[in-house]
Amino acid sequence: MNIKNVSLAIVAVCAAVLHVSADDASLQKFELDQAKYVPFDAATTVTLECPDAAAANWLRTHCAEWYGEQSPKVKAGATGLQPGKGAEGYAAVVDEAGVKIAANTLAGVRWASYTLRQLAIAKRGTFRTEGRILPSLKVADRPHLAFRAVHLCWFPEVRPAQMERAIRLAALLKFNYAIIEPWGMYASAKHPWWHWPNPTMTKEEVRRLVEIGRDLGITLIPQINAYGHATSSRGCTIKHAMLDLQPQYEPLFEPGGWNWCISNPETQRVLRDLIAEMHDDFGHPPFFHLGCDEAQPPSCPECRKTPYAELVCKHITGLADFVKARGAQAMIWHDMLLERGDSRWKGYVHHGTKTTATLADTLPKDVIICDWQYSYGNMKEVRKDWPTMAYFKEKGFPVAGCPWMNFNAMKPMADYISKIGGFGFIETTWHHLRGSDWIQMYKFASAAAWGTTVPPRPPMYDTAFGVALRLVGHDMKVTDYLDTGHLNYQVPPGWWVDNN
Ligand SMILES: [Zn+2]
Repeated sequence: MNIKNVSLAIVAVCAAVLHVSADDASLQKFELDQAKYVPFDAATTVTLECPDAAAANWLRTHCAEWYGEQSPKVKAGATGLQPGKGAEGYAAVVDEAGVKIAANTLAGVRWASYTLRQLAIAKRGTFRTEGRILPSLKVADRPHLAFRAVHLCWFPEVRPAQMERAIRLAALLKFNYAIIEPWGMYASAKHPWWHWPNPTMTKEEVRRLVEIGRDLGITLIPQINAYGHATSSRGCTIKHAMLDLQPQYEPLFEPGGWNWCISNPETQRVLRDLIAEMHDDFGHPPFFHLGCDEAQPPSCPECRKTPYAELVCKHITGLADFVKARGAQAMIWHDMLLERGDSRWKGYVHHGTKTTATLADTLPKDVIICDWQYSYGNMKEVRKDWPTMAYFKEKGFPVAGCPWMNFNAMKPMADYISKIGGFGFIETTWHHLRGSDWIQMYKFASAAAWGTTVPPRPPMYDTAFGVALRLVGHDMKVTDYLDTGHLNYQVPPGWWVDNN
């Protein structure tokens, strides 16, 4: 079988799960011969051509980790291959002579090695694995967008191993950023009241994950909800990570607790402390997400003394400047910046007022606007244009397109961001990082960010996702049943309880 022109964000030797794209034939090439497998074991040599001298050692180390005693040899040398365009482009050839990889940077080497890893299977005909085989192939690939992120939520209900699996899997599917939202789980030393009891997002764990991400090619970005969503809890639960158990911190929040009280100078001080602490723990990444979605107009008497837009602008600008002084760029969600009654945004997410919409003129233009558009009411809708994103771009902001489970909209959204010269693409996952939603979100978003689409998933068992998720589990040396598969349980634990 000969398959051409596919994205290699996620691959498997099964035509049904390959991403076919006719549009990008000139930029991406993929020819795979499933009838012709070649050895990929200790007798194989991988020839690597990359200007980064550290790349060969990275590949050698990881081949040893992934393939153990049956690891191929890695040597630096000329390949005669032309890598895909840009910093992250790569090319690879697998045939009887061995494996050749050419890449412009270590990032391209990583993506090439992940492609091969997803395709390698155990040699046939033995009891235990005695080396692997790869299908003959020729590939040249490069991402569609330079900034490709997943947004991950560290809920109290999410096992820390699940966060690590989600980060590792995102890297394997060639996302290069992961925004981590703590949801009351970050164990601040400076403000230990700013979380639920027994938080699992400890400093040690954050630093460990940041290091893993750095090695695998995915940069972790911290998030703090600096305005609305101050409860660190889903609004529909009415939980509040601080005020439910520690009412003494009431002055920091608007009555009811959904927003921070932003006229209180203590709020700005606390948020700066938290930003600095998280930015340190995350190893000083180049971005910091400040949240700011779904805020309510201020209700406290002090906040109401200042015109709303002026108050919010001062608050966000103060934090964005603080982030900038630390060498990073602030990101915020977009919805407050679009007026609810403005007919131009009909059918798109827009939660602002006439007042807050003026922030599109007053906020610093280097704040990245994360425009979340979920095709509410029609998750199957395929739009071609995203006027809200064009609006922010025209206003002078870097803009990121952010889908959720509107899978059919992802490719057009990534294409649109590319067309208007937008900043990037952020796949939000919220409380759906499990089951088939997880499969769909990761597959469709990674394919879109690499410029291709995903055919309908196979029934019952998703081979490509299963292969990738299992590799991640192997890397983590998972031993707990609950940390396998895309659900913790096959059957709800209460199922076997007598319910007479
Ligand atoms: Zn207030």
